Amino acid sequence: MERTLILIKPDAIQRSLVGEIINRFERKGLKIVALKMISLDEAILREHYTHIADKNFYPGLEKWMMSSPVIAMCVEGYEVVNTVRLLTGITKARSAEAGSIRGDFAMSVSCNVIHASDSIENAIQEVKRFFKPDELFDYQKSEFEHVYGEDERT
Ligand code: UDP
Ligand code: MG
Repeated sequence: MERTLILIKPDAIQRSLVGEIINRFERKGLKIVALKMISLDEAILREHYTHIADKNFYPGLEKWMMSSPVIAMCVEGYEVVNTVRLLTGITKARSAEAGSIRGDFAMSVSCNVIHASDSIENAIQEVKRFFKPDELFDYQKSEFEHVYGEDERT
């Protein structure tokens, strides 16, 4: 089973969308294995956003990501990295597909309500970046056999 990282960003916190967003992931059949509210600092943001740290919008993005706490979540499921990206929608929220989280709840390129890991390799790194091993929970969920077919439950 794969795991992936989701951050619920400051715009979603301010706009009271936290429950709505978590609900989307739960309803899909994903298993929450970690969840916490945290304040981000420059160091973790620079590491998390290395691929865009040299862009002219980065200082504003960094300041905004520190403007309130965020909620970090790790969810688990079969091929979940791709599934969560599909549920998230594209970066430019006002063009994101209706039915996706960004498509339904946001209008901005920067204030686009959530972060989601974009590859299996990055998901592994990002889950490690935001959660200590003892903050990630292994437990049985009784709905498992109804969410997946037998061949997917490995
Ligand atoms: N971002 C921005 N302006 C841009 C591109 C990105 O403010 O022109 C922000 C936005 O919040 C985005 C984040 O930087 O979600 C990370 O960018 P990335 O290209 O990784 O997009 P994502 O994977 O979040 O869709
Ligand atoms: Mg990204």
